[in-house]
Amino acid sequence: MEIIDGKFVSEQIKNELKWKVNKLKECSIIPKLVIITLENNAATELYIRNKKRLFNELGICIEQKIVDVSIEMNGLLKIIEDLNKDNTVDGILIQSPVPDRFNINELFEKISFYKDVDGFNPINVGRISLEMNGYVPCTALGIMQLLKYYNISVKGKHAVVVGRSNIVGKPIARMLLQEDATVTICHSKTVNLKTYTKTADILIVAVGKEKLIQADMIKDNVIVIDVGINFTKEGKIVGDVDFENVKKKCSYITKVPGGVGPMTVVMLAKNTIDSANKRRLGV
Ligand code: NDP
Repeated sequence: MEIIDGKFVSEQIKNELKWKVNKLKECSIIPKLVIITLENNAATELYIRNKKRLFNELGICIEQKIVDVSIEMNGLLKIIEDLNKDNTVDGILIQSPVPDRFNINELFEKISFYKDVDGFNPINVGRISLEMNGYVPCTALGIMQLLKYYNISVKGKHAVVVGRSNIVGKPIARMLLQEDATVTICHSKTVNLKTYTKTADILIVAVGKEKLIQADMIKDNVIVIDVGINFTKEGKIVGDVDFENVKKKCSYITKVPGGVGPMTVVMLAKNTIDSANKRRLGV
C-alpha cells in the first residue's frame, strides 16, 4: 500500500507556480483572486485560511470580500459586476454555502467566465464537458494531477465516484470519463452502495460523512481517493473513509488531511495565475 501524498505533490507544483508568478512580476503583474463570502462554517474557514496561506506564500494577491448575509440579489450582482470590470482582478470565487434564497448557479453565471477560476460558470462547465479549453474545477483538477503524479492510468479502469455535486462529484466523473475510465456515479439515493464500491478499481469519495466507506465495501488493491472533510467531536479533521481499516486493502490511498485538500488549493492558485497570463498577456 502506498500513500498518495497530496502535500508533497502540491509542494512540487508550488515550485512551478512560483516561477510563473516571478515571470508575471517581471511584467509588473501580480495575479489577484477575490473571494466573496456570505456564510461561514468550520469547513469554509479552513478552506479560506488555507487559500490565504498558499497565496501569500506564492506572492499572489488574495482578497476576501465579506458580504453581509442580508444582502439582496441586486447588491450581490453589483459586487460581481464591479469585480468583472476591474482589470486588476484575475479570479473571482463565491465561497459556498450561500443563503438559501440565492441560487448559487445564477451567481456563478454572473462571474465573467474569463475570471471563473473555480470552473463553475455554465460556460466553463459546458466547454469542459465538450472537451474544449476552460477552467476545470480545482478539486477535480487536483485529483487528476495526483493520479498522474503517481503514474496511475485510469484508462479502462472502473472508477466509482460517490457523490454527485456540481463542485466535486460531477466534475471528477467527467474528467475520469475523458481519460477513458468506465465511470459509475453513486449518491444518496443509490440502493446498496456497497454493490458498486466493491467493483471499483478506483474509488473517489466526496460525500462529507465520516467512515462512510468501510473495509468490507472495497475489493483488494483498489485505489482510494478520499475527498471528504469532516470534523470529529474532538475537532479532528477526517475524511469519508475508515482510513485505518481500508488502507490495508488498498494499492494506493490518500490521507485526510494531506491528500486532496492541498491539491485543491494549489489548483486554485494555478487557475488564477493562468487567468493572469491569458487576460493580461494573452498567453
Ligand atoms: P455536497 O453536500 O454538495 O454533496 C454530497 C454528495 O454526497 C451528494 O451528491 C449526496 O447525494 C451524496 N451523498 C450523501 N449521503 C450519501 C450516502 N449515504 N451515500 C452516497 N452518497 C451520499 O458536498 P460536496 O460535493 O461539496 O463535498 C463533499 C465533501 O468533500 C465534503 O466533506 C466537503 O467538505 C469535501 N470537500 C473537500 C474538498 C477538498 O479539497 N478536499 C473540496 C470540496 C469539498 P445527493 O446528490 O443525492 O444529495
